[in-house]
Amino acid sequence: MNAVVTKAERTVIALVERLKKDGSEPVCAFLYDKRELRGRAQTCADSLPEGCRLFYAMKANPSRDYLECLAPVVYGFEAASIGEVRKVREVSADKPIIFGGPGKKDYEISEALELGVMLFHAESMHELRRISLIAGRLGKIASVLLRVNLRASFPEATLVMAGRPTQFGIDEADVPEAIQLAQSLPHLQLEGFHLHSISNNLDAHLHALLISVYWDRVTEWKETFGLTVRYLNAGGGFGISYTDLDRKFEWPVFIKELSRVLEEKRLPGVELLFEPGRYLAATCGYYAAEVVDLKCNHDKHYAVLRGGSHHFRLPGAWQHSHPFEIVPLEQWDYPFPRPEVRDVEITAAGELCTPKDVLARDVRISRLRIGDVLLFHLAGAYGWTISAHDFLSHSHPDHIFFEAGQEDSQ
Ligand SMILES: *Cc1c(COP(=O)(O)O)cnc(C)c1O
Repeated sequence: MNAVVTKAERTVIALVERLKKDGSEPVCAFLYDKRELRGRAQTCADSLPEGCRLFYAMKANPSRDYLECLAPVVYGFEAASIGEVRKVREVSADKPIIFGGPGKKDYEISEALELGVMLFHAESMHELRRISLIAGRLGKIASVLLRVNLRASFPEATLVMAGRPTQFGIDEADVPEAIQLAQSLPHLQLEGFHLHSISNNLDAHLHALLISVYWDRVTEWKETFGLTVRYLNAGGGFGISYTDLDRKFEWPVFIKELSRVLEEKRLPGVELLFEPGRYLAATCGYYAAEVVDLKCNHDKHYAVLRGGSHHFRLPGAWQHSHPFEIVPLEQWDYPFPRPEVRDVEITAAGELCTPKDVLARDVRISRLRIGDVLLFHLAGAYGWTISAHDFLSHSHPDHIFFEAGQEDSQ
C-alpha cells in the first residue's frame, strides 16, 4: 500500500499504538484529524472567488467535533433533516443553515423555521405549498430555492443525482409551473435554485463546465420569469478517489476555471453557493481495526478484523477495495506462537456473519500478523454515519478527535 507516511499519519500511528497499549480489547477506532479538516476547509473557503460561499454538507460526517471545527471556517451548514438542523444549533445559535433533502415532514419544516434556517431547498410542488402554509401559521416568510433535476445528460460520475430519473428535485420540465406556484404563494420567497447534479466527480474541468451550464439555465429562468435570483446553489460532489490515491480533484484548476466562468457570465447580485461534504471530510478520518484472526480458505487468505462494515460501510456500498496501511504492533499476549502471513494477497473481512463484510479484497502485503492493525485511510466522510452500527450487537468503535502534532498534549 501507500508507504508515504506524512506527519498526520505518524500522529495517527502513535494514537493507534497508544490505544493498543492502554486498552485490554483489540483496537477498533475512528480517528479524526481536526487540524487537517480545518486546514482543508480554510483552503477551499479562501480560494473561492468573490460572491461564492462555502457550506458543509454535514451528512458526510455530522459529529459535533466536526461541526465545531468547521463553524469558524465555513459560511454555513447544509442539513438534510431536522436532526441535522438541531445539531448545528447545538454548536451555533446563528450559523446559516440550508435545509434540504426529500421528504421533509411538516414538523421538520415548522421547527426549521423556528430555528431560523436561512434557506429551504424545495423538492416538490407539494413541499412548496406546505412550506408556505406552515410559514404562514408561524407568521414568517420562508426563503426557498427550487431544487431542479436537470434534463441534460451529464457525464459519468460515481453517483449522479440528476440528468436521469431520481427521487430528487423537480423535473426541469416542471420548472415553469413550480416558479409560478412559488410566486403565487403568500408566505414564501423564491430566492433561486439548487442544482446538485453530480457526486464524487474527480474532474475539475467538468465541474467548472457544470457550473457554467447551471449559470445558463438560471439566467434563462431569471429572464423568462422576471425573477430576482439571489442564490444559485451548485451543490457538492467534489470527488475523492478511493482506488487510485494519486488521482485528486484538482481544486486549484477548478477555481481558475470557475473564475473564468463567473467573469464571462456575470449575474449581478447572485451568490454562488457550494456545499461539499466528502471533499472536506474524507481525508481527515481513519478507521483502525485490529487483526483478530488469519486464515486461508480455498486458497484465499483472509484477515478477520475487530470491526467491519457495520462501522465502515463505504467500501461495501461502493464495492471497492478500501486503501489501508498496516500498523505493526509488537504486543503479543498469548503463550503460543504468533500466526503471520508473508507475501500473500489478503482480503480484509469484518466480524459480521455475512460474506459481504469485506473492506478490502486481494491486497498484496509483505507481512501481516494477528494483533497488527489495519489503518484504513479516507474514512472521514460517509463512514460511521452511513453504517448499520448495531447489526450483530458488537460494541461500537472508539471515536477519537485529535489535532495532528499535539498527540503528546492529551
Ligand atoms: C449529499 C449532498 C451534498 C454533499 O455531497 P458530497 O458528494 O459529499 O459533496 C450536497 N448537497 C446535497 C443536496 C446532497 O444531497
